Amino acid sequence: MSENKQDKVDDIYTEATHWHVNTGDETIHAKRITGRFRTYKWYASALYILFFITPYFRWEDSQAILFDIPHRQFHFWALTIWPQDVWMLSLVLILLAITLFAVTAVAGRIWCGYFCFQTIWTDWFTWLEDKIEGNPIQRRKLDNAPWTAHKIKLKVFKHSLWLLISILTGVTFAAYFADVYELWHSYLTFDAPLIAWAVLAAFVFFTYVFAGLMREQVCFWLCPYARIQSVMVDKDTEMPTYDVSRGEPRGKLRGKGSDSRGDCIDCHLCVGVCPTGVDIREGMSEGCITCGMCIDACDSIMDKVGRPKGLIRYASRKEMDGEVLPALFKRPRVVTYSIVLFLAMAGIIYGLTHIPPVELSIVHERQPLFIQMSDGSIKNKYTIKAVNKTAKDLHMHVSIATIKGIKIANASSADIILKSDKIIPLHIFLTARPESLKEKQTPVRFILESMESPTIRVEYESVFISGR
Ligand code: SF4
Ligand code: SF4
Repeated sequence: MSENKQDKVDDIYTEATHWHVNTGDETIHAKRITGRFRTYKWYASALYILFFITPYFRWEDSQAILFDIPHRQFHFWALTIWPQDVWMLSLVLILLAITLFAVTAVAGRIWCGYFCFQTIWTDWFTWLEDKIEGNPIQRRKLDNAPWTAHKIKLKVFKHSLWLLISILTGVTFAAYFADVYELWHSYLTFDAPLIAWAVLAAFVFFTYVFAGLMREQVCFWLCPYARIQSVMVDKDTEMPTYDVSRGEPRGKLRGKGSDSRGDCIDCHLCVGVCPTGVDIREGMSEGCITCGMCIDACDSIMDKVGRPKGLIRYASRKEMDGEVLPALFKRPRVVTYSIVLFLAMAGIIYGLTHIPPVELSIVHERQPLFIQMSDGSIKNKYTIKAVNKTAKDLHMHVSIATIKGIKIANASSADIILKSDKIIPLHIFLTARPESLKEKQTPVRFILESMESPTIRVEYESVFISGR
């Protein structure tokens, strides 16, 4: 490679200082073309159908997935996560964050390009815009044209559809926190609580403004991930890259006597299709969301001019430098992320498979710690809090592991019914003759067991306190 070309290759990996940032003064009207990466983007988009239909899934007469904030429970099909199990949520968040880091280390901002809500909703909005107002040239013409009845009709139609999607987005989000059918009814009868209206209003506003009006400006100026991504990528990360050594010197379509030119015919299609207005030939830029649209565009041009595809392609810095890309398991970042992922995953699986059907906590009365009865015996009071996490009511019996001299004073209270999904506070008294106790504090073990199912049994360690 000539020195000049090598300099260019080096430049391309230095964040372009001369990168043109569209600060929102002009709307980017990206051309929509077909291609391999466009198809992947549609597949990723289709996954979001799940977001809209999931609240309608039912499980035993209830919503299958529901964040029940008033009762502090998260229902996921047959599973109910209680606040006591919330540590699993931390592991889920770690899992998601590390997955994002790992994917970014391997293939750049795949999340931004294909899965981010902002990208997907913007893609839907601009698709509608394209269908209603026409291709980018027609849209720019319409934007600059005076307000006529035709322009007003098109604009009103487009913005109405955008608002409709925004409203559907807001209602769907709220439906993860309340029964979806009751929610729809309450919205349609204007009977929804204030918080439901506030959530809907916030989502309609932000969806409409972010996806319809601000678009790529959200990625440039508001998204923190765009700022930190540069620390997650390295020379091994594969990202859409312009092959400088093959493309330069660029020039209009080759003719006779232009053999010294590179493969880039300077058609600007790669810039025209970019949803963030980036010219990838200028090098890496913060604005590139690695959507691959420029790859589709350039491949279509290479096809037409009879050159091999891949002038813009997913490639790493090492690959462009002619080095061999190391295997994934030899890359320290990938290995580190994989270990953390594995640990987080193992923790979640352990947690999910070990959620106890009944959670028990016992608080010893502090004031007084004990009382001495008129017959000389010592009495301790305990408050038992038991949570039935199953879907059925449970008949439970409270006992203590046999300890010489200590027994339950109010035995009739030891048989209880634990309502499903409820916390039952219960007072239990233990009594003992002082002469049978050797220590000031004697360990006692409470046992709570189901009368129907012996497998449902929980224990709790506490102490019996006497004045000795
Ligand atoms: S689409 Fe390909 S050929 Fe056209 S300007 Fe971009 S890199 Fe060059
Ligand atoms: S430069 Fe290419 S990959 Fe990056 S955002 Fe633009 S079209 Fe997508």
